[in-house]
Amino acid sequence: MNTETDNNLYKAILSAIVRHGIFNTFINEIPMRIYIKDTHGKFLTANKAVADFVGVANPDDVTGKTDFDFFPKEQARRYFDDEQEIIHTGKPVLHKEEPKLDKSGVKREIFVTKMPVTGDDGKVIGLLGFSTDLTERIQAEEKLIEERNSLRTLINTLPDFIYVKDTQSRFTLSNTLHTKFLGLNSPEDIIGKTDFDFFPKDIASSFFADEQEIIRTGKPLFQKDEISPSLHGNTVRVLTTKIPLKDITGKIIGIVGVSHDITSIIRMEKNLGEVNTKLSKTLNELKQSQEQIIQSERLRALGQMASGITHDFNNALTPILGYSDLLINGPGILEDKNATLNMLKDIRTAALDAAQTVRRLSEFYAPARKTERKPVDVAKLIESTVGMTRPLWKEEMAAKNVSINMVTRLDSTGNVFGNESQLREMLTNLVFNAVDAMPRGGTLTLKTRTETPFIVIEVTDTGIGMSDEIRSQCFEPFFTTKHKRGGGLGLSMVHGIVRQHSGEIEVKSSEGKGSTFTIRLPETTMPVEQEKTRQATPSGAQQLNVLLIDDEEVVRQTIEACLKSDHHSVSSAIDGKHGLELFNKNKFDLVITDRAMPGISGDNVAVEIKKINPNIPVIMLTGFGHIMRDLKQCPAGVDLIVSKPVTRDSLRDSITKAFSHKKH
Ligand code: ADP
Repeated sequence: MNTETDNNLYKAILSAIVRHGIFNTFINEIPMRIYIKDTHGKFLTANKAVADFVGVANPDDVTGKTDFDFFPKEQARRYFDDEQEIIHTGKPVLHKEEPKLDKSGVKREIFVTKMPVTGDDGKVIGLLGFSTDLTERIQAEEKLIEERNSLRTLINTLPDFIYVKDTQSRFTLSNTLHTKFLGLNSPEDIIGKTDFDFFPKDIASSFFADEQEIIRTGKPLFQKDEISPSLHGNTVRVLTTKIPLKDITGKIIGIVGVSHDITSIIRMEKNLGEVNTKLSKTLNELKQSQEQIIQSERLRALGQMASGITHDFNNALTPILGYSDLLINGPGILEDKNATLNMLKDIRTAALDAAQTVRRLSEFYAPARKTERKPVDVAKLIESTVGMTRPLWKEEMAAKNVSINMVTRLDSTGNVFGNESQLREMLTNLVFNAVDAMPRGGTLTLKTRTETPFIVIEVTDTGIGMSDEIRSQCFEPFFTTKHKRGGGLGLSMVHGIVRQHSGEIEVKSSEGKGSTFTIRLPETTMPVEQEKTRQATPSGAQQLNVLLIDDEEVVRQTIEACLKSDHHSVSSAIDGKHGLELFNKNKFDLVITDRAMPGISGDNVAVEIKKINPNIPVIMLTGFGHIMRDLKQCPAGVDLIVSKPVTRDSLRDSITKAFSHKKH
């Protein structure tokens, strides 16, 4: 108090506060227990907080009572002794921790202050006490500590670098991993340092610039791909996220950073990439060797076919040689016109058969035909397969003194839509396997029947059969039990062909008894294309001036004769050079040229002819016509490819076609 006036004013206000009950109201509202006791421990006054604590309705109920009225005897005695000590010594107790159980038995953290009050004579006349219950605050503090500890444990356990920096980019926190990465032992050592203490200047500058930008704009930085080469020698590749750190008022006080180490992922990705490249290379090599094996498998089949072809060819040659011999040497035969004509007809049929045989051979290996699909008569397909494979199951086996009885039951007249040569390859493979399975002979049955919507083909043998183990693997590529003889691709090819035709295949087999392969292919209602019947009579077409180029005299003569019989005029050339000379000197309507010739090849002849006169049709006549057509090979300048051998009819058709197909 400065002045007496102030002092008086203060006293007046104090007395008014007490008089008007303001003091009591104030004391009652304070969340602190306040009381005054006499020297015997009797409450002279107490506030509401005391009443609440001791469990009475209002403060007046406390007045006149002692602690013994409210607390267990021992506790009350303790308080009493403490207070008597204060009264006798005159020394206050300040902020003493005095845990107490409340009325429901819960421990409360109470801090007590008790002051002796002395009278005018200096003697202690009473006690002013107040106590604060800090239970909630202490609990909150404990909770905070617990939370902070779990947070610490969490950030120290996370496999990422976690750090906090102030607005100057000085570290205020760093987790264990980050501390270690920077080459320090304790997170405390990092506090106050900056990236300039740990990284090369340019890198630290870039980190600093990013952080200052975040602090300036409040915009976080997400997943930045960074390379962090620490001065300590560790280099990592990280994805860094930095977000602004704000205080309660929203003011930015720094940044929180999380850097996720992706070094090993990148290394793994690189390794994976290398492994992938190696795998693709190996796969390519595998594909190549698979193609080689398929090719050699096909060659093996082709070899077996070749003996069949030879057989058919010899069959075809028999009437040709026999009848021509008779016609040349048989006395008087030529006089019998009818007999001569019949023999010539048979010769022609045999020659056509031979041509057909060669065509079948080419069908077997023609690759381009793989995509060509048309309605196929299944019964005819089986018949032709039986015919083609006959040398294998008949002649060859007979030579080994073994007999295979071939039975066909063709109960279906239906067609399937598919690739004829592939389907034939499928059946041939099954026949090969069946024959292999019957080294001591047996019965091979080929059946077909309709089971709408499928045409069913069954190939049954009475051979060695298969164990369950072999049966379950037999369709796998390269699976074979024939080691030296088999490549193990036959059935996998069969399986592939069936699947490409949207069909199904199953096998039933019993060891020592035989096997049945059942194939179901969707039936088609489309009819099989009929072979065009050839016109037997000359087509009254216009007479042409034809240039014929072929180095083979017999061919030249035959074709010339055919053309002339249709009233065309023919100039023959013995090779390409000769042909071009004739073409330059004369006027022709059509050129027919061989392909493989000494000197200028047929391909070049066609090109030269077209240079001279692009309007003249060029027919290329070749023994490889089928293959060229299958491979869709048509040399420049050639309008039509025709396969040798040709008949007069087919030649006539080809000429008509060449004029309509002519390239412009
Ligand atoms: P390969 O004939 O070259 O061995 P395949 O794929 O055609 O290859 O056949 C695989 C295996 O399936 C054969 O080695 C054989 O063990 C078994 N197998 C196939 N067909 C028959 C069959 N008709 N009878 C008994 N076993 C067969």
